[in-house]
Amino acid sequence: MTIDVAEEHRMIIDLVEKFVDNELMPLERAVMEREASGEPVSLIKEEEATLLEKCKKLGLWALDAPEPLGGAELPTTVMLAIQERLRRTVTPFIFPPDSPNLHMLMDVATPEQKEKYMRPYAQGEMKSCIAISEPGAGGDPAQMRTRAVRERGEWVINGRKIWVSNVPSSDFVILMAVTDPDKGARGGITAFIVDKGTAGFNIEREIPMLGGARTYELAIEDLHLKDSQVLGEVGQGFAPMQKRLTVRRLEMGAMCVGIASRALQMMCEHTQQRETFGQKLSDRQAIQWWIADAATKIHAARLMVMDAGQKQDRGEDVRTVASMVKVFATEMATEIVDQAMQSFGALGMAREMPFTIMSQRLRLTRVYEGPSEVHRMVIARRTLKEYV
Ligand SMILES: Cc1cc2nc3c(=O)[nH]c(=O)nc-3n(C[C@H](O)[C@H](O)[C@H](O)COP(=O)(O)OP(=O)(O)OC[C@H]3O[C@@H](n4cnc5c(N)ncnc54)[C@H](O)[C@@H]3O)c2cc1C
Repeated sequence: MTIDVAEEHRMIIDLVEKFVDNELMPLERAVMEREASGEPVSLIKEEEATLLEKCKKLGLWALDAPEPLGGAELPTTVMLAIQERLRRTVTPFIFPPDSPNLHMLMDVATPEQKEKYMRPYAQGEMKSCIAISEPGAGGDPAQMRTRAVRERGEWVINGRKIWVSNVPSSDFVILMAVTDPDKGARGGITAFIVDKGTAGFNIEREIPMLGGARTYELAIEDLHLKDSQVLGEVGQGFAPMQKRLTVRRLEMGAMCVGIASRALQMMCEHTQQRETFGQKLSDRQAIQWWIADAATKIHAARLMVMDAGQKQDRGEDVRTVASMVKVFATEMATEIVDQAMQSFGALGMAREMPFTIMSQRLRLTRVYEGPSEVHRMVIARRTLKEYV
């Protein structure tokens, strides 16, 4: 760890490390074989069920959920350290629940919604996703057009969403819609909770993405919702949604540190064995500079992630540093995985190695949760303001 953590938190992180080594790493080969044969990067039901049972027994469950809901209320820094370790492997697994929606619910759900959705979600008994992006509004979500209007004491919603992850497996969807077009992001966008199977919520098509990912296009047609399905205040959905995106952006920073660390480890091991032209690759300055730069950049990214985590734990506004973390860490990991692949030669291109999944997954990270260019725009805007 680059920062001090309490002894009990250190023990949890060690437990996660063992879980990754003993339970997730051995599944990598099967995951890579599935991906190589054109299937999604996924676990089969039996594998996932066994892992869930094991992590529940170990207490690796509801880690950042509030204590009254059976959670461990771990600080952000510890959650990020856990995320880094989980992402050292390409075996896709998280300790339930997925944090970003949990944090949005923690911030704005009513006591009834906490019982109905958040408690089972925190316990891993429910899954969820969030529908923000639209065909005409992705990087600039304030331009969304999906419209919710009041009719006879209910909300009626019409519109279209796209690129939404995890829809079929979700028990509920957080759906963002415009309730006041004149106000837009400043008081005119509302979050709604939509139960699976609600009439008017249609999955129009599955879109296969790079790296075995899947997203979905949704047609929202005369979807009727009661007031009890409004998440937070009417018109005030944009800020909690942004906060949720911030939680994910910090996670992505930690994920990139995990992926890059694994790539560096593999590059170091390989280049100390492989000889070309009578010399080990690791004796060549070209390779040593890759290794030196990778170690330095991983260290810098980890410090950035932990600094942002500490700020978040102190209740500070981390939107700008989260943008910095996302841009720096995604680009850092992309470069390091590419150099690690290069150091392996043809073997680095083989689908029996984890690099192809890592690099495709990293390619996606420069678009979802906001493209790098949009984050740079935001960082520049705030930096320029400091010097007027
Ligand atoms: C794998 C994956 C999973 C996703 N999951 C979800 C999900 O679960 N829910 C959801 O709602 N959405 C999801 N998305 C959508 C994602 O959030 C959007 O794709 C993203 O915000 C970009 O929006 P866009 O695709 O409309 O690109 P656009 O906004 O059209 O931008 C296109 C490109 O233009 C450039 N650009 C845009 N604005 C600027 C600027 N100001 N300055 C300079 N260049 C700029 C960037 O290079 C950008 O990549 C997912 C996307 C992917 C790839």
